[in-house]
Amino acid sequence: MPDAMVADSASTATSGGATQEVDVAVVGAGFAGLYLLHRLRKAGFTALVIEEAGDVGGTWYWNRYPGARCDIQTVDYSYTFDPELESAWKWSEKYATQPEILRYLGFVADRYDLRRDIRFHTRIKAATWDQAAERWQLTTDHGAAISCRHYIMATGCLSAPKPPEIEGVKDFKGEIYFTGRWPHHEVKLAGKRVAVIGTGSSGIQAIPLIAEQAAHLTVFQRTPNFALPAHNGPPLLDRVAALESDRAGYREQARWSMVGVPWPPASVVSWQLSDAERRERFEKAWAAGDLVHMLTQLWADQGVDVDGNALVAELIREKIRAAVKDPETAAALSPNDHPFGSKRPCLDTNYYATYNRPNVSHVNLRQEPITSITASGIKTGKRSFDVDVIVFATGFDAMTGAITAVHPITGRDGQSLSQVWANGPQSYLGLTVAGFPNLFMITGPGSPSVLSNMAVSIEQHVDWVVERLAAMRDAGFSTIEATAAAQAGWAQHMADCSTLTLHRLANTWYTGANVPGKAQGVMPYTGGVGPYRSICNEVVGRGMLGFRLTGANGAQQCNDGEVVRLQPDVRLVLNMLADMKLPPIESMGADGARAFVAQFNAGRPAGRLVGEIVDGSLPGADGPLPYRLYRPATPGPHPVVVYFHGGGWVLGDEQSDDPFCRDMCRRTGMIFVSVGYRHGPEHPFPAAAEDGYAAAKWIAEHAADLGGRPGPVMVAGWSAGGNIAAVTCQLARDRGGPAISGQLLVCPVTDCDLDRPSYRENAEGYFLTKSLMAWFWDMYCPPGDRTDPRASPLRGKLSGLPQAFVVTCEFDPLRDEGIAYAQALAAAGVPVEQFNARGQMHSSYTMVDVVITGVSGRVQMAEALRRFAGLTPESRSGDEGARPGSDGLAA
Ligand SMILES: Cc1cc2nc3c(=O)[nH]c(=O)nc-3n(C[C@H](O)[C@H](O)[C@H](O)COP(=O)(O)OP(=O)(O)OC[C@H]3O[C@@H](n4cnc5c(N)ncnc54)[C@H](O)[C@@H]3O)c2cc1C
Repeated sequence: MPDAMVADSASTATSGGATQEVDVAVVGAGFAGLYLLHRLRKAGFTALVIEEAGDVGGTWYWNRYPGARCDIQTVDYSYTFDPELESAWKWSEKYATQPEILRYLGFVADRYDLRRDIRFHTRIKAATWDQAAERWQLTTDHGAAISCRHYIMATGCLSAPKPPEIEGVKDFKGEIYFTGRWPHHEVKLAGKRVAVIGTGSSGIQAIPLIAEQAAHLTVFQRTPNFALPAHNGPPLLDRVAALESDRAGYREQARWSMVGVPWPPASVVSWQLSDAERRERFEKAWAAGDLVHMLTQLWADQGVDVDGNALVAELIREKIRAAVKDPETAAALSPNDHPFGSKRPCLDTNYYATYNRPNVSHVNLRQEPITSITASGIKTGKRSFDVDVIVFATGFDAMTGAITAVHPITGRDGQSLSQVWANGPQSYLGLTVAGFPNLFMITGPGSPSVLSNMAVSIEQHVDWVVERLAAMRDAGFSTIEATAAAQAGWAQHMADCSTLTLHRLANTWYTGANVPGKAQGVMPYTGGVGPYRSICNEVVGRGMLGFRLTGANGAQQCNDGEVVRLQPDVRLVLNMLADMKLPPIESMGADGARAFVAQFNAGRPAGRLVGEIVDGSLPGADGPLPYRLYRPATPGPHPVVVYFHGGGWVLGDEQSDDPFCRDMCRRTGMIFVSVGYRHGPEHPFPAAAEDGYAAAKWIAEHAADLGGRPGPVMVAGWSAGGNIAAVTCQLARDRGGPAISGQLLVCPVTDCDLDRPSYRENAEGYFLTKSLMAWFWDMYCPPGDRTDPRASPLRGKLSGLPQAFVVTCEFDPLRDEGIAYAQALAAAGVPVEQFNARGQMHSSYTMVDVVITGVSGRVQMAEALRRFAGLTPESRSGDEGARPGSDGLAA
């Protein structure tokens, strides 16, 4: 690291002295370290904070560049642990400047008398776990060594500046500054030729102010970023009023929100809005000058769907084109290589307009990379620029840099953290690492950290850690360590979360892509602040799940396991349903249950547009049946799929799986005809089965009249509809037609045995319960008839059936009978593929646009149907990366 980067750290030589013994040592005196010290003292621990800087403040001590401000509104970017502190401090601006935030942190340090336990101007040089003593031994570059029971890294996600990767920096004869290590003295730029390298958050904040002073400013940009106008000013009256009218409620809402700022999530999706409505929402967000507003309030799919995201991105690019007069510069400033929000967007004041100034020029490093820095300036592949000052706004070795790059940490059995993390950071909850007992990270990789209002995330981590330490002490435990299984489970959950959002599609410091040679992967937890908090609480509630605790005389406690095995969005849905405390569906009676399902369906997102929807009626086994036909927008004639809805032969109708039918119609390019068959108890077995068969026969015979491709049809169904689809195939084989080229069975009922392991494991808590399934059987089929293959197709003859694709979900009582059916079909010589969906529940695939992780399964279902129809595989764009790797396909 060049000297200038640490010019103000004023490290001095190590001095000796006896080792200082404390219960807890904390590195870092920023937002996190200060609050930790306060909480640790209150909990009765002896604690010491070690800080490289000359005073408190962390980020706000180091980042003194012109224009440095927070980008979360300051009413939200504050401590909340003490209402009296909140009343004692008033912010002067919507987004406070660095000096004001630094004053605030100094005020906090004074108020709680924190500085007396902080060793400033001191760097931790190495930390080593002493197994025999069960303590961490720390060496420093200043003052005595330290021995502590617990070692807490409050080292910050953005505190290790990234050294420039350019040849010749040392040769430059002018002044060099780093935004992340800006000097304390005034930097005079007036009349000078200044170069700024980097256009991330810091560059975008500094550039307009540097341009106002410099004789000429040249901005060197590798990657353009999305920037929104801050519209700074006094704190917004509505936010302040909302806070002051119910401070506790406001803060609590922030803690359980997705990003740590109390905005309710948008519920409307982009395709439900007209162009004009979308523009109106966008203009409102642009005028609000608030990142969180723009990231969360436009439409629900903007962060999870490339199409929904592209709409926002283009509206922002339109603003850039309107602000920047030179079209070439505007194009160079317009981000095209990453979805909006997949990199942290910036908040600016006059950033784009600055490029209209005559003293500002822009160099696009994608077209002419910097080749070297010389004594007089900067050389690109095409030109040389003589400058007096170079400002590096090149960012940080984020999230892991301050933990591993700055000092060696050696854990149990001599393991080095840098080596353990060589292929990317591994952690349990972003708080601890297996193999490193009694080591904690505040906002470490694997926690929401930089994707959140960090004030909220820091408080949550500090509270969790201090409460755990106190509980351990009270229970007589001296060490705590994450288990390898828990950590591996967390890595899987992190990966599942990142398939949900668009962060995976950007090369950014979130993924380590900005540091050459750094292992890549999404480092922050993308599942949201509130869900993360509930998981941390769950770990405690389940007896410190995934941790091994040890104490004197061989005392041990280890409750091993993975805290989240559900897909993240499934977990959210199930938690939401649990919070609603609904009575069991089976207690509502058939009519009550039908009314409930209708109301439930009315609240779900509308399905996407298809070419045409036609309602009609067809002859069933005993009278007309309604149907709804979904036709693709592509030219026909299309292959035809006869679809049977779910609902336990009691609930639902031809429209109740509308989002699923629309989605599959779009993905497959096929006509879906959803049939409204008769239900129990009014029409008991075999009414539904016979209706299914009659409907398939009629549709096959009238395929051409319906605009479909004549010839064999396919059948598909979910749940009880899967049962009817399977039965229809058996009846069609036995009764001489219709010809069926394939069957798609999604979580089908195949047997009346309610005693399989999946019924026991998933009896409750996953929406479809064992008791509800028993009720469905009672409503539909008398016990004596249940072994009839028209009720339990698993008990029928299976040879000679059409090829099948059978979907089962891990957390579904019906899982094992679906697997059994697939295995029995294979044994009978029927070509079959079975898709085991990890972490999904019975309703996952039909909750289109709610359970986003269901996309990958539907892509595979669509591919199967296309194979059945003899078409080439094809999946719609927008599903990139949405295929969880460990879902299994078995032949
Ligand atoms: C310019 C800028 C603007 C930001 N704006 C926002 C915002 O608006 N909202 C938001 O939520 N977040 C923002 N952040 C993120 C910000 O880092 C956090 O909000 C918060 O300040 C982090 O606090 P911390 O205590 O965890 O870490 P830091 O404030 O980074 O403090 C860590 C401290 O640890 C010290 N340290 C590290 N290693 C060692 C060592 N080996 N020995 C001794 N000392 C060490 C460092 O010197 C540093 O002082 C911003 C970051 C930057 C850079």
